[in-house]
Amino acid sequence: MTVAQLFPKLEIPETIAAGPGPGNTDARVLAAYAGAGLADHMHGDVLRGMVECKHMLRQVWGTENVHTFGVAGTGWSGLDVMFSAVMPGDRVVVFTNGTFSGIDGLTVRMKAATAAELALSPLDPKPASVIIVDVPHGMSVTGGMVEAALAEHKPKWAAMAHWETGSGRINDIAGFSAACEKHDVMGLVDAVSSLGVENFRIDDYPGVHGWASCPQKGICCLPLTYAPVSFSDRYIETLKKTGTRTFVHHPIMEARHWGIIDGKDVEKGTYHRTHSAYAVAAFHEALRITLQQGIAERAKDYAHHETALRRAVQAMGCEVTSNMTSLVVLNLPKALAGREMELVQACRAQNFGIWPTLSEPVQIRIGILNLLSREAITDIVTRFADAIRALGGEVDDVRVTEALNGVYDRAVAAE
Ligand SMILES: *Cc1c(COP(=O)(O)O)cnc(C)c1O
Repeated sequence: MTVAQLFPKLEIPETIAAGPGPGNTDARVLAAYAGAGLADHMHGDVLRGMVECKHMLRQVWGTENVHTFGVAGTGWSGLDVMFSAVMPGDRVVVFTNGTFSGIDGLTVRMKAATAAELALSPLDPKPASVIIVDVPHGMSVTGGMVEAALAEHKPKWAAMAHWETGSGRINDIAGFSAACEKHDVMGLVDAVSSLGVENFRIDDYPGVHGWASCPQKGICCLPLTYAPVSFSDRYIETLKKTGTRTFVHHPIMEARHWGIIDGKDVEKGTYHRTHSAYAVAAFHEALRITLQQGIAERAKDYAHHETALRRAVQAMGCEVTSNMTSLVVLNLPKALAGREMELVQACRAQNFGIWPTLSEPVQIRIGILNLLSREAITDIVTRFADAIRALGGEVDDVRVTEALNGVYDRAVAAE
């Protein structure tokens, strides 16, 4: 007989989540999560909350797509639902320029592989019908690249990340959409990092038919909740013809619980799976916060604070290679080159949660999700400068302070 092993109660410390994600959850979201009663998934207020979330999501995405809802789980859950319309043998072009679009490419290869292709290499299939256009780390996918690849390969689907969090690069969504329209290709976009950070409306990109995001980045709703997705009518019509081999991640079936049935809004949802009142309440509050602040206002705030952080690390001698507004990806000053991982580990040991890149080359990623204040950015900058000094590097505090003041005092003066 084995003796039961009882571990001490799990305590997780307070950290500064200054990475690419997850973002710092708002106290209002946590209060909503903890404050929900144990209502079951068919209780009237839970169903009403889901329908309200659906309507708020359409505003956050900027769309009239009826099939707009949340998928229980993380970003990959939403992406799995989006890619579920890709069937074995489908011709797909995927643009990859970092870790996450790389995994999107793997997902597509798994879905598009025939049974024989999958069996040949089950964890890393290489179906003949999928073309991966590999754009080097640190570069963006341009409209020209998409145009050229779609003209050559004439696929059914094309996929790209909007913001590639692995390398911190923004890809050309307008060029992608235009090329998809021109070549009559259905675009699929991983918008995990951009939703709730960038000011964009998906209805402005008619070449894109499927969108997927996540709860934990721009929406700031880490308590495992819902990955926002949205699908055009054409996507749904295509899926209706082919079907797909999943019940739980089926875009049409999953939409039912959010009150979307036969392509129409109905008053309340029907059972798909057991949704959590805690998760619904938290997600509802996160969407309310997003809309109260306003998408445009939030995007402006991110750009402002990212500029301050960028100038401050440049004043330390770092080279910034990213262009996202929620994240700075950088190389250390020459004297410390190659010690990026060491510095990240030292910071993380002090609960200052910055990140390395997850694929080569090793760079440092500092994120500002829900850290949109002068105090928060100054704290990050101070900690980062201390970490550079601890490695034996030099930081000129006067230059760093001037860089921060240059952004913040000018903004105050302008008001
Ligand atoms: C974070 C991220 C993902 C994965 O999201 P999870 O919530 O970790 O599942 C996918 N794509 C992009 C572009 C991301 O930034």
